[in-house]
Amino acid sequence: MKTIALIAHDGKKDEMIDFVREHRDVLSKFNLIATGTTGGLIHDEVGLDVTRMLSGPIGGDVQIAAEVASGEVAAVIFFIDSLARHPHDPDIQTLQRICVVHDVPLATNPATAKLILHGDL
Ligand code: PGA
Repeated sequence: MKTIALIAHDGKKDEMIDFVREHRDVLSKFNLIATGTTGGLIHDEVGLDVTRMLSGPIGGDVQIAAEVASGEVAAVIFFIDSLARHPHDPDIQTLQRICVVHDVPLATNPATAKLILHGDL
């Protein structure tokens, strides 16, 4: 089973829950990993099983970046709140950079995430 990583900043968590709810069937065919709070919400609100890493600001993005670098992740869905400041900005840059370096699909908004889920992962 392939793995998809899910991360949403606080200002984008509602958008993530709506997205996951809408695409519940296809997402249930994947192993899901997520940063701590995002993963908890997906489990509680939508009922999908999610492996929860640490919360983003204390290292969750870096843990997901390590999984991507190890070849364990088929795609990353990362809803970034570009209007907010983030104390873990270096970690966010790291995750995006690692996706580029390893040519792993990275969606930063629902429109792109939808295309990824309907693609050939
Ligand atoms: P969270 O982390 O899911 O634990 O809120 C996301 C982030 O801020 O990177």
